[in-house]
Amino acid sequence: MKRVGEVSFGPLASARLPSERLPSVLLPSVHRKSPLKKSLSILPIIRSTPLDKILSLAPPCSCSHCRHGCTMGSGMLAKEDFAPMAEFLGVSGSQLREQFLETVELFGKEHFRPKILRKEGKPYGQCIFFSGDGKCKVHPAKPLQCRVAMGCKPYGEELMLWFQENYLVDWKDKQSIREFEGYVGAGGKALPNKKIEKKKERISPKRS
Ligand code: SF4
Ligand code: SF4
Repeated sequence: MKRVGEVSFGPLASARLPSERLPSVLLPSVHRKSPLKKSLSILPIIRSTPLDKILSLAPPCSCSHCRHGCTMGSGMLAKEDFAPMAEFLGVSGSQLREQFLETVELFGKEHFRPKILRKEGKPYGQCIFFSGDGKCKVHPAKPLQCRVAMGCKPYGEELMLWFQENYLVDWKDKQSIREFEGYVGAGGKALPNKKIEKKKERISPKRS
C-alpha cells in the first residue's frame, strides 16, 4: 500500500494551480463569455457544494494537456465508481480490484485507484487504463477524481480540494480528521474551513 506523498496523482498533478488562485478570485474575464458562465455562479467551491454542481463545472472533455497526468499516475475512485467500472470492463468487483486497482492510504483510510505501471522502481508511472493512442480506456466509467479534474480551469485546484475533502477524508473518523488537520497544519492545501483556521491560529498566534 502506498502512502500519501509517495506519488503524484495523474489528474491531480495536472490540476495544480498557483497558490494565489483562491476561490475569491475565481472569475477572470476570459471565462465571462464561456458556456460555463452560469455554472460559475456557484463559486466559491466549498466542501458542501453538491456533486451535481461540481460536475457542471467539469463537463466531459479530452485533450492532450490532461493526458500527461495519466502518464504520471491515476485518479482515486469514489465508492460509487466500482460497480459502473466493473460493468464497463465486464469483470466482477473482485476481479476489478485484483486486476486493475491498487490501494493507497490517505488520511488514515484505504482508497483505490487504477494500478500505476511503474518502471525501474520509480514511484510514478502510467495509469493502467491509459491507452497507446493517448486515450482513457475507461472514459465513460473513469474514477470520479479523473472526472472532476479540470487542470485548464482557474478553479481546477478547488475541484481537487473538493474531491479530497469529500472522498478522501472521513469526517466521522477522528484519526482521519487528525491526519487531515496535520496535513493542513504542515502547509497542505484545503478549502476554506473556519474550524481548521481557528486551530491553526491557536497553534501559531499572530504576532502583533
Ligand atoms: S482512469 Fe483514465 S483519466 Fe483516470 S488516470 Fe487513468 S487513463 Fe487517466
Ligand atoms: S480539463 Fe482542460 S486540459 Fe484537461 S482534458 Fe479537459 S479541456 Fe483538456
